[in-house]
Amino acid sequence: MPGTSLLYRIRTGVLRVFLKIGGLLAKSARFVHPTKLTARLFSFLEAQVFPFRCVLCLKKSDQSRDLCVACQKELPWLETICERCSVPLPSSGICGQCLRHPPSFRMVKALWSYEGEVKQLISELKFNHKRMVGRLMGELLAEAFTEFYSKDSLPQGIVPVPLHPARLRQRGYNQAEELAVAIARKVGRPLELKGCMRVRHTESQASLPFAKRTQNVANAFRCRAPFVYTHVAVVDDVVTTAGTVEQVARALSQQGVQCVDVWCCARTPLIPNP
Ligand SMILES: [Zn+2]
Ligand SMILES: [Zn+2]
Repeated sequence: MPGTSLLYRIRTGVLRVFLKIGGLLAKSARFVHPTKLTARLFSFLEAQVFPFRCVLCLKKSDQSRDLCVACQKELPWLETICERCSVPLPSSGICGQCLRHPPSFRMVKALWSYEGEVKQLISELKFNHKRMVGRLMGELLAEAFTEFYSKDSLPQGIVPVPLHPARLRQRGYNQAEELAVAIARKVGRPLELKGCMRVRHTESQASLPFAKRTQNVANAFRCRAPFVYTHVAVVDDVVTTAGTVEQVARALSQQGVQCVDVWCCARTPLIPNP
């Protein structure tokens, strides 16, 4: 991924905002300009001055996002998966884990298997402060979800899996929130940032064996009562054992949420022991 200095990012950010505002004004305010020509001109200028660059191959992108068509196609897209938890399966149906222990959420919607470039991108988002990766992946998720849901069946609110305040201070941002902000903007549903809290500082799930992960996050979340929505989408970057999202779904259902869908970038191909 290209390295960029703070000064460069500030300068390009300011110019991009200027061009975006110009484009929006031209599009929306008829008294500023009666035609869409100015909007097109601003978009054209923005594309010329700041061409989108693919975060994977670093070449100029051939679409309006920082990922080229070829690299997007090569991502490890999930194909045959469990209808409940999206774990990859050899044939369609419901996995043994979900049959034995039905989860509290209705389903996990994930796009990719947690491997290769997707693993690399999530690592950049989580540990290297590449928050633009969150926007990029969030937009790709939102496009897929908009196709999957009808306007009436979309969840009413979007809840990123919260970090404990101590972890948030340490990292400086919540990667799930970065994804959720981009998704909410694109699907047009409100973001609920204060309704659910992580009340227990847990060890990182990735550092623990599968057997200990469920216990690690047990009762780690609490939700405001009564919760404002009955159908909620919980956003996370990766679902591995589903222990974390299961606990969030339980906390939400205790406050009257009737249906929880989990939206995430990636699902690990491993099936943990029950
Ligand atoms: Zn590329
Ligand atoms: Zn399953």
